[in-house]
Amino acid sequence: MTKILLVEDNEMNRDMLSRRLERRGYRVVLATDGQSGVDMAASEAPDLVLMDMSLPVVDGWEATRRLKAAPATRDIPVIALTAHAMSSDREKALQAGCDEYDTKPIELPRLLAKMEALLGGGPGRTAPAAEAPR
Ligand code: MN
Repeated sequence: MTKILLVEDNEMNRDMLSRRLERRGYRVVLATDGQSGVDMAASEAPDLVLMDMSLPVVDGWEATRRLKAAPATRDIPVIALTAHAMSSDREKALQAGCDEYDTKPIELPRLLAKMEALLGGGPGRTAPAAEAPR
């Protein structure tokens, strides 16, 4: 099952988004600050990271730089999540090594489309049914 690491310090956002992703069939693991996010990316080997940028301990930009600097985690796609739709935020996120960028409040269909583009499919892409002949 496709595993998503959600790094988000706001409890309400974290609970709501993780529940919505789980309902779509994703397995979700959670971290509440940037340092835990970096540690969990290494220990959990998620298929994709959703990274809030405004985080305690280590912010999302620095956490992403650390993920992209480490051989074990550099290939994991990271989608930055910020509360601002400013183009400078997008540039800053991409410069930190984020593969994609989305803004809060989350619009789930839009975020899912970006996730699926990076994952090469939805949550069930590794299920046996997906490999059945057409
Ligand atoms: Mn935050």
